Amino acid sequence: MILDADWAIRWMMAARQEVAAQRDYLIDLDRRIGDGDHGENLDRGFCRVGAVLEADPPSSVQGVLTVVAKTLMSTVGGAAGPLYGTAFLRAAKSCAVEPLTGAGVADLIAAALEGIQARGKAERGEKTMVDAWGPAADAARAAADAGLDGPAVLRAAADAAEEGARATEPMKATKGRASYLGERSIGHLDPGSASSAMILVQAARAAEEHR
Ligand code: ADP
Ligand code: MG
Repeated sequence: MILDADWAIRWMMAARQEVAAQRDYLIDLDRRIGDGDHGENLDRGFCRVGAVLEADPPSSVQGVLTVVAKTLMSTVGGAAGPLYGTAFLRAAKSCAVEPLTGAGVADLIAAALEGIQARGKAERGEKTMVDAWGPAADAARAAADAGLDGPAVLRAAADAAEEGARATEPMKATKGRASYLGERSIGHLDPGSASSAMILVQAARAAEEHR
């Protein structure tokens, strides 16, 4: 599978579908340790992303991710809107060479992580989406360095993000709204890590479907 604009658009259409399907689950996660708006916010954002891409599909990965960034930034709100917006904006800027190679995918995920950390100032272990994107960036780099192709690097990143999201359950939140709960945030999954893993899984699936 070539990781070109068609892939990036299929990724976003699949993410729209997955976020819609998991909307209530994400709302429930955010109700436990936040204010319950994460599923609704993201669903609104990705619906708009889908509509904008359908109306005027860009011809490069960079173009697609730039549209995604701007759309999420202006529609999602809360903490997650600016965080995802910055992630996709940095990811777009990282796309110097298209179609993406394995190393290009690793660069894209590293750039997204950098954007999230530049915006939110969270380190790993603080029970935020950094705990999904961090392991994803490490796994992607290791897979690319081992010579794997783009789709395989995406799969490694998606698996690591899922594991990272699961690993937030025993953590105590020290950033974001969940940090107000202190010890009571322990024992619940972080909603932003869960949604991040979902989005990265769709990136891998979109690449694998057309292998
Ligand atoms: P809000 O907290 O404003 O209601 P959302 O519910 O949309 O925003 O998003 C909450 C998610 O945002 C959290 O689950 C967490 O993953 C992520 N998050 C919050 N603050 C930060 C931060 N400083 N750095 C990284 N991620 C964060
Ligand atoms: Mg919330």
